Amino acid sequence: MSAKLLEGKTIAGKIKEGLKKEIESLKQKTGKTPKLVSIQVGENAASAVYIKSQKKNAENLGIEYELKTLDAGMTEDALIGEIQKLNQDKSVSGIIVQLPLPKGVDHKLVMSSIAPGKDAEGMHPENLGHVLLGDAKLAPCTAQAAMELIESSGVKLYGKEAVIVGHSEIVGKPLSLLLLNKFVTTTVCHIATGERGVLPEHVKKAEILVVAVGKAGIVKGDWVKEGAIVIDVGINRVDGKLVGDVEFEKAKEKAEFITPVPGGVGPLTVTMLLRNVVSAFKLQNKI
Ligand code: NAP
Repeated sequence: MSAKLLEGKTIAGKIKEGLKKEIESLKQKTGKTPKLVSIQVGENAASAVYIKSQKKNAENLGIEYELKTLDAGMTEDALIGEIQKLNQDKSVSGIIVQLPLPKGVDHKLVMSSIAPGKDAEGMHPENLGHVLLGDAKLAPCTAQAAMELIESSGVKLYGKEAVIVGHSEIVGKPLSLLLLNKFVTTTVCHIATGERGVLPEHVKKAEILVVAVGKAGIVKGDWVKEGAIVIDVGINRVDGKLVGDVEFEKAKEKAEFITPVPGGVGPLTVTMLLRNVVSAFKLQNKI
């Protein structure tokens, strides 16, 4: 059996089509345009790629995108001051702070200074709390992207066994809650699971497997359960090529659905960011 590919680009395309129409009707209803402000502190090659993609995708949907590049030597207090100005600015619907931040700047403190209702990345502690409560309006983008891909398989999730490898705050932890909210029995693996040598035995049980570690081939293809849904979040550069965390060629012979890398989770992540901006705009305009 060779798995069906869960193509992020195609799924993102459908969601963006819906968002474009929604934004048009929101503009007519309110006379306003949703706006995302992106803050970059200093120049960074890696975030430049994301910024370019965010801007292009936002503008295609009819969302205004403004990039504020601040001085690399800016203090934490001054940065928080800039964010507070944007929090007060009624023309701003969403705010994203590009990482990495300069050394000595506490990124958690900075993220927490964004008004929860303008938190485009869904990473404010208040929004994460709503993920736990199961009533999130703005949830972390990559976790939402993985969820969209899982749901796009059309497989009934209720009662299924999921295993997430990686417990980061942007992917593994929030995704575990999004899956629990759908009555999926969810196991989260992390560094200690690997160190104890029991990662294969957990992975082998997964009807839904999500891997978000950042180590090429950490999940071997022959660990994948027959008929599983495999979502590979990892992005690694090996010999000049982008690859995921799962041994793709072998895994696709066992899985029923699998995401490619690149072209799986990535295109959906930016779409989820822009969907959050639209949700924020609606919250601010009480729609
Ligand atoms: P991260 O913060 O470094 O988290 C990696 C996680 O993997 C940690 O929870 C870590 O556990 C765990 N881990 C490390 N070694 C392990 C092992 N041997 N066995 C089991 N677990 C292990 O990374 P992240 O930000 O979540 O990103 C993960 C990957 O996804 C990266 O490749 C990143 O580029 C990619 N990513 C892709 C997108 C996208 O849109 N496609 C978005 C975000 C991230 P400990 O914390 O306990 O060490």
